[in-house]
Amino acid sequence: MARKPNPAKRARAAEVMRLLEDEYGPFHWEPRYDPASELVYTILSQHTSDVNSHRAFRNLMDTFGSLEAVSRAEVAEIEDAIKTAGLFRVKAPRIKAVLERVRDEVGSFDLSFLGEMPLDEAKAWLRRLDGVGPKTAAIILCFSLGMPAMPVDTHIFRVSKRLGLIGPKVNADQAHDILEPMVEPGEVFAFHLYLINHGRRVCKAQRPRCGECVIAEGCPSRPGARRGAGRRDGPRSARNAGISPAV
Ligand code: SF4
Repeated sequence: MARKPNPAKRARAAEVMRLLEDEYGPFHWEPRYDPASELVYTILSQHTSDVNSHRAFRNLMDTFGSLEAVSRAEVAEIEDAIKTAGLFRVKAPRIKAVLERVRDEVGSFDLSFLGEMPLDEAKAWLRRLDGVGPKTAAIILCFSLGMPAMPVDTHIFRVSKRLGLIGPKVNADQAHDILEPMVEPGEVFAFHLYLINHGRRVCKAQRPRCGECVIAEGCPSRPGARRGAGRRDGPRSARNAGISPAV
C-alpha cells in the first residue's frame, strides 16, 4: 500500500521533476509489450543489459511464435532461445512456470483485466506469481498498462536516496510505495524515466557528476552540502548510497 507522502518531499519531487524535464525533455507513455509479454521480458531483463534482454525476447518469440508455445516448450528449448539474456538456466524455468500459472488461472495470456483493477489489487494479483516482486509488478502495470505504478530499479533507488527523497534505512522494496505517491498519478511514468536517466548519465553509482547536476542545489549528498541539510553530506555519503540494492 502506498504511503501518505510528506509534503516537503512532495514539493522536492515536483522540483526535481521540473528540472529533469528541462534537462531530458518530456516523456510520453506508450505501451511496450502486452502485459504477459512484459512479464516475460522483465524476467529476461533481470541482471542483463537492455540490448541483450531485447535480443533474447525477440529470439524467444521468433523461436516459438507465441507465449502459449513457450509455456508448453521444454525448459532446455527455452534455455537455448534466451541464452543472450544471461542466467538463462534460472530464467528459463521461471518463465515456463509463470506462463503455466497464468494459463491455468486465466485461461489465456490476456492480462489486460489488470488495467481495470484498483492499482493495489493489480499489484497483489501479480505478486502472487513466483518471482514477481514489487519492481516487476510495477514495470508490467506502468509500462504495459499505463497505470501509475513506480518501478524502482538500482538507479532510481540510488538517486532518490542521495536526494533524500527516501530515508537511509529504506530498502528497495519499500521505496516503491514511498516514491509512487510523491508525484501525481499522471506523472509517475515520467518520474521513473527522469530518475533512471539521471542515475545512468549523471548521478552514477561510483562517481556522481555533481558538478554538472541540474538538481544539485538542495541535494544533501553533493560535495560541500551543509551537514544536517538532509542526510549525510559530501561525496563519501554519495558513494555509500550507491551500493546496489538487491533489485
Ligand atoms: S548532486 Fe550529486 S549526488 Fe546529488 S543528485 Fe546530483 S549527481 Fe547525485
